[in-house]
Amino acid sequence: MKQQSRIAIIAIIIVIPLTSFYVLSQESKSIPSTPQNSKLQAISSFYPLYEFSKNIGQDKVDVSLLVPIGVEPHDWEPTIQDVQRIQKSDLIIINGIGFEEWVHDLEDMGYNGLIVDTSKGIQTIHNEDVESVEDDDHHHDENDPHIWLDPTLVKIQVKNIANSFTKKDPNNANFYQTNAEKYIDELDELDLKIKNELQYCKKDFIAFHNAFTYFSEQYGLNQLTIINSLQPHLEPSAKTLESVINTAKKLDIKIIFSEETADPRTSQVIADELGGKVLTLSPIEIGNDLSYIERMTQNLNNLKEALC
Ligand SMILES: [Zn+2]
Repeated sequence: MKQQSRIAIIAIIIVIPLTSFYVLSQESKSIPSTPQNSKLQAISSFYPLYEFSKNIGQDKVDVSLLVPIGVEPHDWEPTIQDVQRIQKSDLIIINGIGFEEWVHDLEDMGYNGLIVDTSKGIQTIHNEDVESVEDDDHHHDENDPHIWLDPTLVKIQVKNIANSFTKKDPNNANFYQTNAEKYIDELDELDLKIKNELQYCKKDFIAFHNAFTYFSEQYGLNQLTIINSLQPHLEPSAKTLESVINTAKKLDIKIIFSEETADPRTSQVIADELGGKVLTLSPIEIGNDLSYIERMTQNLNNLKEALC
Protein backbone atom coordinates (compact mmCIF):
# COMPACT_ATOMS: atom_id res chain seq x y z
CA MET A 1 0.00 0.00 0.00
CA LYS A 2 1.14 3.48 -0.76
CA GLN A 3 2.59 5.52 2.07
CA GLN A 4 -0.10 8.14 1.61
CA SER A 5 -3.02 5.83 2.17
CA ARG A 6 -1.20 4.22 5.08
CA ILE A 7 -0.95 7.61 6.74
CA ALA A 8 -4.58 8.27 5.92
CA ILE A 9 -5.64 5.04 7.59
CA ILE A 10 -3.51 5.71 10.65
CA ALA A 11 -5.09 9.16 10.83
CA ILE A 12 -8.51 7.54 10.92
CA ILE A 13 -7.52 5.26 13.76
CA ILE A 14 -6.24 8.11 15.85
CA VAL A 15 -8.53 10.97 14.93
CA ILE A 16 -11.90 9.24 14.72
CA PRO A 17 -12.02 8.05 18.34
CA LEU A 18 -11.23 11.61 19.45
CA THR A 19 -13.91 13.21 17.34
CA SER A 20 -16.55 10.49 17.37
CA PHE A 21 -18.06 11.58 20.67
CA TYR A 22 -18.62 15.06 19.35
CA VAL A 23 -19.92 13.80 16.00
CA LEU A 24 -22.25 11.31 17.66
CA SER A 25 -23.72 13.90 19.97
CA GLN A 26 -24.31 16.21 17.00
CA GLU A 27 -25.88 13.46 14.90
CA SER A 28 -28.24 12.34 17.60
CA LYS A 29 -29.99 15.69 17.39
CA SER A 30 -30.75 15.50 13.69
CA ILE A 31 -31.18 11.79 12.95
CA PRO A 32 -34.30 10.14 14.36
CA SER A 33 -33.38 7.02 16.29
CA THR A 34 -34.30 3.86 14.41
CA PRO A 35 -33.88 0.30 15.63
CA GLN A 36 -30.43 -0.90 14.67
CA ASN A 37 -30.32 -2.99 11.54
CA SER A 38 -30.05 -6.57 12.71
CA LYS A 39 -29.05 -7.94 9.33
CA LEU A 40 -25.46 -8.99 8.83
CA GLN A 41 -23.49 -6.24 7.11
CA ALA A 42 -21.06 -7.76 4.64
CA ILE A 43 -18.72 -6.01 2.25
CA SER A 44 -17.32 -7.91 -0.69
CA SER A 45 -14.11 -6.66 -2.18
CA PHE A 46 -14.84 -7.02 -5.89
CA TYR A 47 -17.58 -8.07 -8.27
CA PRO A 48 -17.65 -11.90 -8.40
CA LEU A 49 -17.50 -12.14 -4.60
CA TYR A 50 -20.43 -9.73 -4.43
CA GLU A 51 -22.52 -12.02 -6.59
CA PHE A 52 -21.52 -15.19 -4.73
CA SER A 53 -22.27 -13.49 -1.39
CA LYS A 54 -25.68 -12.26 -2.60
CA ASN A 55 -26.57 -15.77 -3.72
CA ILE A 56 -25.79 -17.16 -0.29
CA GLY A 57 -27.01 -14.33 1.94
CA GLN A 58 -30.06 -13.30 -0.14
CA ASP A 59 -32.46 -11.26 2.01
CA LYS A 60 -30.72 -12.11 5.26
CA VAL A 61 -27.44 -10.29 4.60
CA ASP A 62 -26.81 -6.74 3.41
CA VAL A 63 -24.03 -7.27 0.90
CA SER A 64 -22.29 -4.31 -0.64
CA LEU A 65 -19.49 -3.97 -3.13
CA LEU A 66 -16.24 -2.22 -2.26
CA VAL A 67 -14.49 -1.66 -5.61
CA PRO A 68 -17.01 0.49 -7.51
CA ILE A 69 -18.77 -1.24 -10.39
CA GLY A 70 -16.84 -0.71 -13.63
CA VAL A 71 -13.53 -0.13 -11.88
CA GLU A 72 -10.75 -2.59 -12.56
CA PRO A 73 -9.79 -4.12 -9.18
CA HIS A 74 -6.13 -5.09 -9.69
CA ASP A 75 -4.50 -1.87 -8.46
CA TRP A 76 -7.45 -0.46 -6.59
CA GLU A 77 -7.00 0.85 -3.05
CA PRO A 78 -9.62 1.94 -0.51
CA THR A 79 -10.24 5.60 0.22
CA ILE A 80 -10.68 6.94 3.73
CA GLN A 81 -14.45 6.71 3.26
CA ASP A 82 -14.12 3.08 2.18
CA VAL A 83 -12.12 2.26 5.29
CA GLN A 84 -14.80 3.90 7.44
CA ARG A 85 -17.43 1.79 5.69
CA ILE A 86 -15.42 -1.35 6.27
CA GLN A 87 -15.05 -0.46 9.96
CA LYS A 88 -18.83 -0.54 10.33
CA SER A 89 -19.27 -3.94 8.65
CA ASP A 90 -19.52 -7.36 10.31
CA LEU A 91 -17.51 -9.08 7.60
CA ILE A 92 -15.29 -8.22 4.72
CA ILE A 93 -15.15 -10.88 2.03
CA ILE A 94 -11.94 -10.96 0.06
CA ASN A 95 -10.53 -13.10 -2.70
CA GLY A 96 -7.18 -13.55 -0.95
CA ILE A 97 -3.89 -14.65 -2.56
CA GLY A 98 -2.63 -11.08 -2.44
CA PHE A 99 -5.43 -9.65 -4.59
CA GLU A 100 -6.36 -7.21 -1.79
CA GLU A 101 -3.01 -6.05 -0.48
CA TRP A 102 -4.68 -3.34 1.57
CA VAL A 103 -6.25 -5.96 3.82
CA HIS A 104 -3.07 -6.12 5.92
CA ASP A 105 -3.68 -2.53 7.01
CA LEU A 106 -7.18 -3.50 8.15
CA GLU A 107 -5.64 -6.22 10.28
CA ASP A 108 -3.08 -3.78 11.66
CA MET A 109 -5.71 -1.25 12.61
CA GLY A 110 -7.67 -3.79 14.58
CA TYR A 111 -10.76 -4.30 12.42
CA ASN A 112 -13.47 -5.79 14.66
CA GLY A 113 -15.28 -7.74 11.98
CA LEU A 114 -14.38 -10.99 10.30
CA ILE A 115 -11.95 -10.97 7.36
CA VAL A 116 -13.15 -13.80 5.15
CA ASP A 117 -10.40 -15.10 2.90
CA THR A 118 -12.35 -17.07 0.30
CA SER A 119 -9.18 -18.69 -1.06
CA LYS A 120 -8.76 -20.69 2.15
CA GLY A 121 -8.24 -24.33 1.18
CA ILE A 122 -7.29 -23.56 -2.44
CA GLN A 123 -3.93 -24.62 -3.81
CA THR A 124 -2.44 -21.50 -5.37
CA ILE A 125 -0.45 -21.30 -8.59
CA HIS A 126 2.71 -19.23 -8.94
CA ASN A 127 2.84 -16.68 -11.75
CA GLU A 128 6.37 -17.71 -12.62
CA ASP A 129 4.96 -21.03 -13.82
CA VAL A 130 2.84 -19.22 -16.35
CA GLU A 131 3.92 -19.19 -19.95
CA SER A 132 3.91 -15.67 -21.33
CA VAL A 133 4.36 -14.55 -24.90
CA GLU A 134 5.86 -11.30 -23.69
CA ASP A 135 9.60 -11.13 -23.27
CA ASP A 136 10.13 -11.42 -19.58
CA ASP A 137 12.41 -8.50 -18.83
CA HIS A 138 11.20 -8.17 -15.26
CA HIS A 139 10.62 -11.57 -13.84
CA HIS A 140 7.83 -11.67 -11.27
CA ASP A 141 7.29 -14.33 -8.73
CA GLU A 142 3.85 -13.92 -7.30
CA ASN A 143 0.85 -16.11 -6.55
CA ASP A 144 -1.88 -15.92 -9.14
CA PRO A 145 -5.15 -14.61 -7.65
CA HIS A 146 -7.59 -15.53 -10.48
CA ILE A 147 -9.25 -18.49 -8.77
CA TRP A 148 -12.80 -17.23 -9.48
CA LEU A 149 -12.51 -18.19 -13.14
CA ASP A 150 -12.36 -21.89 -12.27
CA PRO A 151 -15.89 -22.94 -11.20
CA THR A 152 -14.52 -25.86 -9.19
CA LEU A 153 -12.54 -23.39 -7.08
CA VAL A 154 -15.51 -21.05 -6.80
CA LYS A 155 -17.26 -23.93 -5.02
CA ILE A 156 -14.65 -23.61 -2.25
CA GLN A 157 -15.03 -19.82 -2.19
CA VAL A 158 -18.80 -20.22 -1.88
CA LYS A 159 -18.39 -22.67 1.01
CA ASN A 160 -16.04 -20.26 2.77
CA ILE A 161 -18.57 -17.45 2.40
CA ALA A 162 -21.45 -19.63 3.65
CA ASN A 163 -19.38 -20.72 6.65
CA SER A 164 -18.52 -17.14 7.53
CA PHE A 165 -22.20 -16.10 7.43
CA THR A 166 -23.02 -19.15 9.55
CA LYS A 167 -20.36 -18.20 12.06
CA LYS A 168 -21.62 -14.63 12.38
CA ASP A 169 -25.32 -15.51 12.27
CA PRO A 170 -25.77 -19.13 13.44
CA ASN A 171 -29.56 -18.77 13.64
CA ASN A 172 -29.72 -18.78 9.84
CA ALA A 173 -27.12 -21.51 9.34
CA ASN A 174 -29.45 -23.78 7.37
CA PHE A 175 -30.49 -20.96 5.10
CA TYR A 176 -26.90 -20.07 4.18
CA GLN A 177 -25.77 -23.66 3.74
CA THR A 178 -28.78 -24.56 1.59
CA ASN A 179 -28.26 -21.52 -0.64
CA ALA A 180 -24.60 -22.42 -0.99
CA GLU A 181 -25.49 -25.98 -1.99
CA LYS A 182 -27.91 -24.73 -4.62
CA TYR A 183 -25.31 -22.42 -6.08
CA ILE A 184 -22.70 -25.18 -5.99
CA ASP A 185 -25.10 -27.35 -8.06
CA GLU A 186 -25.13 -24.60 -10.70
CA LEU A 187 -21.33 -24.43 -10.60
CA ASP A 188 -21.12 -28.21 -11.02
CA GLU A 189 -23.35 -27.94 -14.06
CA LEU A 190 -21.17 -25.20 -15.53
CA ASP A 191 -18.01 -27.20 -14.83
CA LEU A 192 -19.42 -30.26 -16.57
CA LYS A 193 -20.52 -28.19 -19.57
CA ILE A 194 -17.04 -26.66 -19.97
CA LYS A 195 -15.37 -30.08 -19.64
CA ASN A 196 -17.66 -31.69 -22.19
CA GLU A 197 -17.64 -28.91 -24.74
CA LEU A 198 -13.91 -28.22 -24.80
CA GLN A 199 -12.81 -31.82 -24.48
CA TYR A 200 -11.92 -32.52 -28.11
CA CYS A 201 -10.84 -29.03 -29.12
CA LYS A 202 -7.47 -27.37 -29.60
CA LYS A 203 -5.64 -26.28 -26.45
CA ASP A 204 -3.65 -23.09 -27.18
CA PHE A 205 -5.29 -19.70 -26.81
CA ILE A 206 -4.08 -16.12 -26.36
CA ALA A 207 -5.76 -14.24 -23.51
CA PHE A 208 -5.20 -10.56 -22.84
CA HIS A 209 -3.76 -10.87 -19.33
CA ASN A 210 -3.19 -14.15 -17.60
CA ALA A 211 -6.49 -14.43 -15.78
CA PHE A 212 -7.12 -17.96 -17.02
CA THR A 213 -4.30 -19.90 -15.41
CA TYR A 214 -6.51 -21.88 -13.00
CA PHE A 215 -9.15 -22.28 -15.69
CA SER A 216 -6.56 -23.66 -18.12
CA GLU A 217 -5.15 -25.99 -15.49
CA GLN A 218 -8.63 -27.32 -14.79
CA TYR A 219 -9.66 -27.85 -18.41
CA GLY A 220 -6.35 -28.91 -19.91
CA LEU A 221 -5.80 -25.73 -21.95
CA ASN A 222 -2.62 -23.78 -22.63
CA GLN A 223 -2.96 -20.07 -21.92
CA LEU A 224 -0.65 -17.57 -23.60
CA THR A 225 -1.01 -13.89 -22.86
CA ILE A 226 -0.47 -10.57 -24.58
CA ILE A 227 0.55 -8.68 -21.46
CA ASN A 228 1.99 -9.39 -18.07
CA SER A 229 -0.69 -10.10 -15.48
CA LEU A 230 0.80 -7.78 -12.93
CA GLN A 231 0.38 -4.74 -15.13
CA PRO A 232 -3.00 -5.32 -16.74
CA HIS A 233 -3.14 -1.88 -18.34
CA LEU A 234 0.33 -1.68 -19.67
CA GLU A 235 0.48 -0.91 -23.38
CA PRO A 236 2.35 -3.77 -24.98
CA SER A 237 5.44 -2.74 -26.92
CA ALA A 238 5.84 -3.23 -30.67
CA LYS A 239 8.28 -6.00 -29.85
CA THR A 240 5.69 -7.76 -27.68
CA LEU A 241 3.05 -7.48 -30.41
CA GLU A 242 5.46 -8.97 -32.90
CA SER A 243 6.28 -11.81 -30.59
CA VAL A 244 2.56 -12.53 -30.00
CA ILE A 245 1.94 -12.50 -33.74
CA ASN A 246 4.80 -14.93 -34.39
CA THR A 247 3.59 -17.28 -31.65
CA ALA A 248 0.04 -17.15 -33.00
CA LYS A 249 1.25 -17.97 -36.51
CA LYS A 250 3.26 -20.92 -35.23
CA LEU A 251 0.28 -22.28 -33.34
CA ASP A 252 -2.17 -21.47 -36.16
CA ILE A 253 -4.22 -19.23 -33.86
CA LYS A 254 -6.68 -16.92 -35.64
CA ILE A 255 -8.75 -15.63 -32.76
CA ILE A 256 -7.24 -13.22 -30.26
CA PHE A 257 -9.01 -12.43 -27.03
CA SER A 258 -9.63 -9.07 -25.49
CA GLU A 259 -11.35 -8.10 -22.26
CA GLU A 260 -13.78 -5.39 -21.12
CA THR A 261 -11.27 -3.02 -19.58
CA ALA A 262 -8.55 -3.44 -22.21
CA ASP A 263 -8.05 -1.26 -25.26
CA PRO A 264 -9.56 -3.43 -28.03
CA ARG A 265 -7.12 -1.95 -30.58
CA THR A 266 -4.25 -3.97 -29.08
CA SER A 267 -5.93 -7.29 -29.82
CA GLN A 268 -7.27 -5.94 -33.13
CA VAL A 269 -3.77 -5.12 -34.40
CA ILE A 270 -2.71 -8.72 -33.78
CA ALA A 271 -5.88 -10.20 -35.25
CA ASP A 272 -5.57 -8.06 -38.40
CA GLU A 273 -2.03 -9.27 -38.86
CA LEU A 274 -3.24 -12.88 -38.60
CA GLY A 275 -6.29 -12.34 -40.79
CA GLY A 276 -8.33 -13.39 -37.79
CA LYS A 277 -10.67 -11.71 -35.35
CA VAL A 278 -11.06 -10.51 -31.77
CA LEU A 279 -13.46 -12.06 -29.29
CA THR A 280 -14.01 -11.27 -25.61
CA LEU A 281 -12.74 -13.52 -22.90
CA SER A 282 -13.90 -11.87 -19.72
CA PRO A 283 -11.85 -12.13 -16.54
CA ILE A 284 -15.09 -11.12 -14.74
CA GLU A 285 -13.22 -8.57 -12.70
CA ILE A 286 -15.88 -5.91 -13.15
CA GLY A 287 -19.65 -6.31 -12.96
CA ASN A 288 -22.24 -5.95 -15.71
CA ASP A 289 -25.88 -6.99 -16.21
CA LEU A 290 -25.08 -10.66 -16.67
CA SER A 291 -24.52 -13.21 -13.94
CA TYR A 292 -21.24 -14.99 -13.31
CA ILE A 293 -22.65 -18.21 -14.81
CA GLU A 294 -23.90 -16.36 -17.90
CA ARG A 295 -20.55 -14.68 -18.44
CA MET A 296 -18.65 -17.93 -17.97
CA THR A 297 -20.97 -19.46 -20.55
CA GLN A 298 -20.18 -16.58 -22.94
CA ASN A 299 -16.49 -17.22 -22.34
CA LEU A 300 -17.04 -20.89 -23.10
CA ASN A 301 -18.84 -20.08 -26.34
CA ASN A 302 -16.07 -17.75 -27.46
CA LEU A 303 -13.42 -20.29 -26.56
CA LYS A 304 -15.33 -22.89 -28.57
CA GLU A 305 -15.34 -20.57 -31.56
CA ALA A 306 -11.56 -20.23 -31.22
CA LEU A 307 -10.66 -23.81 -30.40
CA CYS A 308 -13.31 -26.22 -31.67
ZN1 LIG B 1 -6.69 -10.12 -13.46
